[in-house]
Amino acid sequence: MIYLDHNATTPVDPRVLEAMMPFFTEHFGNAASRHHALGCDAAKTVETARERIAAVIGADPREIIWTSGATESDNLALQGVAQSSVYRKKHIVTVATEHRAVLDPCEVLETRGFTVTYLGVDGDGCVDLDRLATAITDQTLMVSIMHANNEIGVLHPIGDIGALCKERGVLFHTDATQSFGKEPIDVNAMGIDLLSATAHKMHGPKGVGVLYIRRRDPRVRCQALLHGGGHERGLRSGTLNVPGIVGMAAAATLPPDDGVRALRDRLETGILSRLDGVEINGHRTHRLANTTNLSFAGVDGKALMKAMPEIAVSSSSACTSALLQPSYVLGALGCHEARIRGSVRFSLGRCNTAEEIDTATARVVESVQALRAAGPRRHT
Ligand SMILES: *Cc1c(COP(=O)(O)O)cnc(C)c1O
Repeated sequence: MIYLDHNATTPVDPRVLEAMMPFFTEHFGNAASRHHALGCDAAKTVETARERIAAVIGADPREIIWTSGATESDNLALQGVAQSSVYRKKHIVTVATEHRAVLDPCEVLETRGFTVTYLGVDGDGCVDLDRLATAITDQTLMVSIMHANNEIGVLHPIGDIGALCKERGVLFHTDATQSFGKEPIDVNAMGIDLLSATAHKMHGPKGVGVLYIRRRDPRVRCQALLHGGGHERGLRSGTLNVPGIVGMAAAATLPPDDGVRALRDRLETGILSRLDGVEINGHRTHRLANTTNLSFAGVDGKALMKAMPEIAVSSSSACTSALLQPSYVLGALGCHEARIRGSVRFSLGRCNTAEEIDTATARVVESVQALRAAGPRRHT
């Protein structure tokens, strides 16, 4: 199996697993049980991990809240701030290509008296800052725009968006799940007020994430969604997942993965140079180094995946494919239905080798040729 689906999830890095192991067994303390040494050790470990995560984005450790992953972080950012009694504004601006973990809470808020503006994107998947500026009104509480898109890898200019939000006095949340630990992020320089991330997209374990919540200039008010014990400054009750937290900190501070861009380019140019009728979806340069989303004319993405079962890729976001809908992200780019159906996402990771990329390239090329030769009946 050649795994090229790292935007869906990643294997735990051996160094991360090694760091986690002692916290399942001998160091199993509850970080809230500070009346004995085991609990104190766990609490200290959690605080060290919090400092390491904060350092990645230039935050204060007190601004980091542990969660179960990015879905919870996005929900806490949107619903927690919207429900805070200190805010009176009831308008949110987001983008049509956000992850469902942002879009679904926005839809819930619409049933609770909020209005949400879903900005469109251009054919490359980019947001227009002038349209964002126009969408912000004196009723706007928050702007939520992801850093990197999970399906096409497009990077949004979060520094410019943060500056605009500061200027207009609105809060700025960014879902940085796909960029955390990969792209440089500085919450102060970029004017970010809330930021979501998860461990399992960067070679950490599943089931642990963080929400960064700014404490000053401005102090962001957020209401808890989970109650029961007042952990995490009352913002997120529940016994902390100490091994997971250690794993997330270890994953976030792994040495940078410098080779992935060259491998992605090798895959992309390999396929494009040997096949006609292939289009790249999303902006070619404002993009994550590990991602390429390609549409193969006359081929169904699902049929292509079936034709090469030993290559793990995705024909739409793994998180949304349970809904069995064509990609709403590619739809927002204005792609016609055939181009959406013919799309496949290749997302690389730190374990991929040049040899794997060459094998995958050859398998894609021969599978596409075979499907096209089999005739147009089953395809576009
Ligand atoms: C994977 C993903 C999520 C969901 O993260 P979980 O930790 O699996 O809940 C949210 N947003 C983006 C952009 C993602 O890629």
